[in-house]
Amino acid sequence: MKERGLLIVISGPSGAGKGTICSELRKEMPNLVYSVSMTTRDPRVGEKEGINYFFRTKEQFEELLAQGDFLEYAKVYDNYYGTPKAHVMDLLDEGKHVILEIDIQGAMQVKDAFSDGVFIYIVPPSLSVLSNRLNGRGTDAQDVINKRLSLASSELALAHRYDYIVVNDILDEAVEKVASILRAEACKISRNKEKIQDIYKQYMTKE
Ligand code: ADP
Ligand code: 5GP
Repeated sequence: MKERGLLIVISGPSGAGKGTICSELRKEMPNLVYSVSMTTRDPRVGEKEGINYFFRTKEQFEELLAQGDFLEYAKVYDNYYGTPKAHVMDLLDEGKHVILEIDIQGAMQVKDAFSDGVFIYIVPPSLSVLSNRLNGRGTDAQDVINKRLSLASSELALAHRYDYIVVNDILDEAVEKVASILRAEACKISRNKEKIQDIYKQYMTKE
């Protein structure tokens, strides 16, 4: 039997650099799979169905919700966002490490169900840097940006519910920190029971 993969939850204010860090991480750690969420928000320029999100109407989302198809979901900035359950569970069973890039409401739902998940909070070095990044990304209207900035401080107050905090100032350093966290987590005794048994058997059969 394969050891189950890590369920990794990454949160942080919009514009903190979660998406950027996750795509860099995947280049470095090929065993990582990004869970594609479902959302009712409109696609941004350049976003693709099934790559960035599964884009659905509110009615479609609510139907799947009623069927219990989500591992977690939340209403963020007036839109639904959710993690389709079946795919994530299959990947974990295959021993893949799965990243959920989700908001804090969803993260806490996952924490209740998966206490052995790895919960990482990404923060920008300051609110003004966050503002610059959101403006620089150029994907959101000013009223959307303002809404996201005003939520950032209240969300930060809940960061203590995560296992790790990573300040995303210099990108490479932030990516290395997250990679180190994941490498250490993968080495935990509690996650390697099968491996330990195998090693133990080898030692016992050696002359
Ligand atoms: P999130 O996924 O958290 O909403 P993004 O990954 O989209 O944030 O990053 C927001 C913007 O900030 C993007 O334009 C991205 O290129 C930029 N960015 C991310 N990390 C850094 C960094 N360490 N230094 C400078 N710019 C960054
Ligand atoms: P954006 O609209 O910028 O892509 O995402 C807005 C917020 O929704 C971000 O904080 C992001 O982490 C969160 N989010 C994206 N997908 C999900 C999801 O499946 N579940 C939850 N709970 N939040 C999500």
